[in-house]
Amino acid sequence: VSRILPGATIGFLGGGQLARMMALEARRLGYRIGVLDPDADGPAAQVADFCVVGEFGDRGAAERLAARCDVVTLDTEHVPCEILEVLEQSTPVRPGSAVLRVVQDRAEQRRFLDGLDVPQTRHAEVADLDSLRTAAGLVGLPGVLKTRRSGYDGKGQVKVASVEGIGAAWDAIGRQPAVLEAFVDFEMEVSVLLARDLEGNVRFYPIAENVHRNHILHLTRVPAQIAPELARKAEEIGARIAAGLGHVGMMAVELFVTRDGELLVNEIAPRTHNSGHYTFGACATSQFEQHVRAICGLPLGEPTLFGPAIMINLLGDLWQGREPDWSAVLSLPCTHLHLYGKHAPRSGRKMGHVLVSGESAGQVARIACAVEAALDLDQAPTVRLAP
Ligand code: AMP
Repeated sequence: VSRILPGATIGFLGGGQLARMMALEARRLGYRIGVLDPDADGPAAQVADFCVVGEFGDRGAAERLAARCDVVTLDTEHVPCEILEVLEQSTPVRPGSAVLRVVQDRAEQRRFLDGLDVPQTRHAEVADLDSLRTAAGLVGLPGVLKTRRSGYDGKGQVKVASVEGIGAAWDAIGRQPAVLEAFVDFEMEVSVLLARDLEGNVRFYPIAENVHRNHILHLTRVPAQIAPELARKAEEIGARIAAGLGHVGMMAVELFVTRDGELLVNEIAPRTHNSGHYTFGACATSQFEQHVRAICGLPLGEPTLFGPAIMINLLGDLWQGREPDWSAVLSLPCTHLHLYGKHAPRSGRKMGHVLVSGESAGQVARIACAVEAALDLDQAPTVRLAP
């Protein structure tokens, strides 16, 4: 394995919060950082050595970034594959175009998972209104209609409650190629976070339990309250997917745990993931450092969790009319504030998160409740006090 050692330059395609936290960790390790971002004062650009200003779909700008970097990685899986292919001719790109080609198209992703014989949500591909009607017959309703490309945080997806709603759902996603999935009445949502290095070694973080609000991650709790056999099964699924893709770096696999105790893959993210933010502070090696180690050909670090933890997302909605009361949050024990340096706190936009990391699940849950109360986030309490 050729190692890319500290002192070398890591380039990020996209300069959001993931790139920012990777850059912070990479900097601590002694790397230099370049970012491609439309905003020269974006979350990652603020902590980088240099920023190439441009959209991540701008081939010329991506080439200018790569020319100054020893390895290139991603803040988002929505970078066009054609651009990655060009960059790959001169610079290592990890993960590369082969991984992205599968993951950035929901239909390809589903076919790939079918090929691996991994359990997943019942689904059918949709090309037009007719095939949507056929798909509804095959998959059953209620279902969730999701665009094949560019979806995240519930964007590009809509619930289809009944046959009467099919036309409206097709309009709602902009009449574009899609996948219809059965609506899963799940018991719990979990994610497998793993890192895979250049030699195929894999390290797992503890399975995380995720609670969403309005299709956006609200909180993550670790360790997830699931049976050890189920956790092992989830890890095995994650490892099979990472190896099947030939992935290098961090990866998250989101799964539903059904009421019958079965696991169904919802989606794959070939990168650091929101449900792994807790690792930055609650684990011996954060997912951000781990990703840097993996893409630079360095030995993977210990994923060890120090103790129970809860991560709460801070969305732009919190800012409506006033600055949130950070003093109230920071006065709580075991509590750490992460803000991403974003300028406009739009509704639904991920602005930061709070990590509560302590010694017992009960203590952490109580403090997390207090965080929610301090920020008026507790209108629908989702943190159960009893572990
Ligand atoms: P996604 O963008 O596919 O990760 O979806 C965001 C969130 O919407 C998921 O984490 C679930 O909470 C919910 N969701 C997505 N697909 C389904 C489904 N087929 N059944 C039930 N809930 C879903």
